[in-house]
Amino acid sequence: MGSPVTSRADAVATILDALDATVREAIAKASAKTNGGRDIDAHQPHAERVAYLATEVEAAKRLRAYADELGSEGGRDPQIDDMALVFAAEVAAKATSQLDAHLEDFGLDAAFLDRTLAAPAVRAAIRAALRDDRLTALGRHQLATRGVNNGRIDEIAGMARDAVRQFAATEVAPMAEHLHRHDELIPEALIRKMAELGYFGMAVPEEYGGGGMGNLVMIVTTEELSAASLAGAGSLITRPEILTKALLKGGTPAQKEKWLPPIASGDVMVGVSVTEPDTGSDVASIACRADAAERDGRRGYVINGAKAWCTFAGRANVLALLTRTDPNVKLGAKGLSLFIVEKETFPGHAFEMRQPGGGLLTGKADATPGYRGMHSFTLMFDNFFVAAENLVGEEGGLGKGFYLQMAGFAAGRLQTGGRATGLAQAALQRTAEYANDRKQFGKAIGEFGLTQHKLGRMATHIAAARQLTYAAARAMDEDESIALLPAMAKLFASDVAVWVTQEGQLLHGGWGYAEEFPISRYVVDATVLPIFEGVKPILELKVIARTLFA
Ligand SMILES: Cc1cc2nc3c(=O)[nH]c(=O)nc-3n(C[C@H](O)[C@H](O)[C@H](O)COP(=O)(O)OP(=O)(O)OC[C@H]3O[C@@H](n4cnc5c(N)ncnc54)[C@H](O)[C@@H]3O)c2cc1C
Repeated sequence: MGSPVTSRADAVATILDALDATVREAIAKASAKTNGGRDIDAHQPHAERVAYLATEVEAAKRLRAYADELGSEGGRDPQIDDMALVFAAEVAAKATSQLDAHLEDFGLDAAFLDRTLAAPAVRAAIRAALRDDRLTALGRHQLATRGVNNGRIDEIAGMARDAVRQFAATEVAPMAEHLHRHDELIPEALIRKMAELGYFGMAVPEEYGGGGMGNLVMIVTTEELSAASLAGAGSLITRPEILTKALLKGGTPAQKEKWLPPIASGDVMVGVSVTEPDTGSDVASIACRADAAERDGRRGYVINGAKAWCTFAGRANVLALLTRTDPNVKLGAKGLSLFIVEKETFPGHAFEMRQPGGGLLTGKADATPGYRGMHSFTLMFDNFFVAAENLVGEEGGLGKGFYLQMAGFAAGRLQTGGRATGLAQAALQRTAEYANDRKQFGKAIGEFGLTQHKLGRMATHIAAARQLTYAAARAMDEDESIALLPAMAKLFASDVAVWVTQEGQLLHGGWGYAEEFPISRYVVDATVLPIFEGVKPILELKVIARTLFA
């Protein structure tokens, strides 16, 4: 972009130093104000503001780290360098105006702002970074490469990316539109092929028949599958990931032996059932109950109550079901336990399963505008019997369900960072292709400066979402118990997917609204991403802000 690499690197450093100082101070003040996070509810709007700012700054740092890493390996990429600069500057420009508008809420004064984000050197760096010609040049590069991502990555993950990209193009993409428009169930043949390639066992250790490939390979696999079809392929991996992590954390040795191999081989398909019709975010208040019982001489539990939004519950062979095992509601989360509920598989939008001893499980899928292919069910359990050995952790797992579920959700959120990045990537590619091909006013719409500017910003945000998600994956390889980075990756990448798909739709004009153009599917699919696995405000307040302020 005309500016030498050193000055570009200096500019990123200047901006990120100011952002870093701001976030650290903002968190310290918010922590004091909320009594270490315990009184967040009295300051929700501000807690959300700080949580989001911290997330964006984390994404900016990870993108810069990636740019530097490429540089230190001798493969400096001027596109990535520019994206790192632009993204840091966008975050800083937004933070400056937020700080200015909410200085008192931040507990900071004008002098602090003047020393950091509003310091003359920082303001000059932001202005130079956000020059329109820098963004339009980034957009022109996307047009020239049709948006394709071939960014450098570890060798094994790179090989996985190539292989999955090929598989997704030949096996998933051709059926994605049909599956969506007819709201059909994912074909068995596809599930089998994915199973044979080991896609359901990536989180399962090798000793239990899994790939043991680590989280980065799982993420690039998810990205490529989700780019072809979010609901028809990328999201199939989420449920086994969640149950696998819960079992690894709290299952007995016998339970791991019994369940992990068939999960890894794809012989057992999983649904995850936490949400209830009247209880979503307030998980500790769920009412569906499991009471100790004996049936046909077997010890176990009978389940009674309703569940909502259980994705894939029809086809699944087992449901990871969170229930209340202690009737004392005052115990909240401590009264919950996690069960593996075995069930028959059903292909349609409604099912009924009767047990010989009198138990009944019914399910009915709720129609949705997107995220079709797995179907999300409202369930009703009526004296449905589950054997005692299916309580995760058995006797020792009583009351631990919430914690096991949250461990599973952290893995699910990491995976959703990959899902969202993949979907946004698909939108970028379709839009770059369309902008090259569509002509108005005598030229390709990609030749207009505003189109280039938009494509440049879209690609930049996707790059930031991707590097934040990869960083979360690597961090989770080091420490399975982390929750903050996966939550940040899920939060940010989901927002990027919603925004990028909608920008892409606009750039398609009227055809972006036609079902025949995949961008219309990407838009409706993306909007679910900020909703599940902790709806956005809850993720911001109860996971990110709470962790940061503690
Ligand atoms: C397509 C789809 C698939 C899904 N799949 C699954 C699945 O497989 N398994 C499963 O268990 N669930 C699933 N879900 C459910 C999903 O996880 C929940 O919808 C989500 O957790 C939010 O719960 P809720 O819908 O009850 O919203 P609510 O909890 O009612 O929240 C609604 C809004 O209220 C506000 N709010 C609530 N509490 C607070 C608070 N303390 N502070 C501030 N604001 C607050 C927020 O703005 C929030 O967005 C799915 C949902 C969808 C749409």
